[in-house]
Amino acid sequence: MHIGFIGLGNMGSPMAHNLLKAGHQLSVFDLSQPAVEALVEAGANAPGSVVDIARSPAELIITMLPASAHVKTVYLGEQGLLAHVQPGVRLIDSSTIDPLTAREVEALARAQGNPMLDAPVSGGTTGAAAGTLTFMVGGEQSDFDNALPVLQCMGKNIVHCGPAGNGQVAKVANNLLLAISMIATAEAMNLGVALGMDPKLLAGVINTSSGRCWSSDTYNPYPGVMDNVPSARGYSGGFGSDLMLKDLGLASEAARQTGQPVLLGALAQQLYQTFSNQGHGNLDFSAIIKLYTGVSE
Ligand code: NAD
Repeated sequence: MHIGFIGLGNMGSPMAHNLLKAGHQLSVFDLSQPAVEALVEAGANAPGSVVDIARSPAELIITMLPASAHVKTVYLGEQGLLAHVQPGVRLIDSSTIDPLTAREVEALARAQGNPMLDAPVSGGTTGAAAGTLTFMVGGEQSDFDNALPVLQCMGKNIVHCGPAGNGQVAKVANNLLLAISMIATAEAMNLGVALGMDPKLLAGVINTSSGRCWSSDTYNPYPGVMDNVPSARGYSGGFGSDLMLKDLGLASEAARQTGQPVLLGALAQQLYQTFSNQGHGNLDFSAIIKLYTGVSE
């Protein structure tokens, strides 16, 4: 299939590489020339602008952009995809953005004959490189069925979450819970160690007791408890604190728009904002434990 791909950053670049590896023909665009050149070297062609991608023979266009504002720029307006794409061309936005913007863009696309899915991912850059991402997909069932073979070139778990925007809803809800559970794990680990428990022993007890969660048993934030997680390597790699802060902003904005309380989410957002202001935004999100311990390793 001929696919257009816009947004070749930390996630988009490895995803595009996997589409090439699977034998698809790719036309790519990014504001960053080196990002484009790396894909061209791997076999993609580079038409030069969003409008050129829209006018290329691509039957499907995938976008992987930083945030809602970038998605609006790329899809809407005179130089946007929707103004230039042929009816029938399918669109998939894999950026993490707020559900209401996703629904707004999808409705405009559908109205002019371009079926659109929101398909945010989890799995990070490692999952993107390995082609094992989880895709949370919102949109029509028939469009989901149509996109499945392409998404399977980049991911392992592809979940249809319901109508347009629901992929973003699932992503926002999951990351809200993840942020809160990570902070709670950090708080409990810090308290237990301060009271005299060995951190590994404490984690072992929690992980066979009712406090167990992904943050405690797969990604424990306390240094020395687990190997091969960011807390074992000075919180490098992984999922950046600023990306978690961004997702908490999406959750609180979605909550505002729907009039729902997110009490712990608001507190989590404030904690990640404080952490970011201290200059730690690039550290993995499990480094939030530093707010409790001050540990540097
Ligand atoms: P990134 O900042 O590394 O890449 C975004 C790319 O989009 C950049 O190369 C940028 O030049 C390009 N871009 C921005 N505006 C553009 C425009 N108008 N036209 C063309 N290109 C444009 O971001 P990322 O880490 O690849 O993340 C992409 C999305 O995936 C985000 O929404 C993020 O929240 C989400 N996400 C990231 C991770 C992760 O671990 N990095 C995990 C899950 C989800």
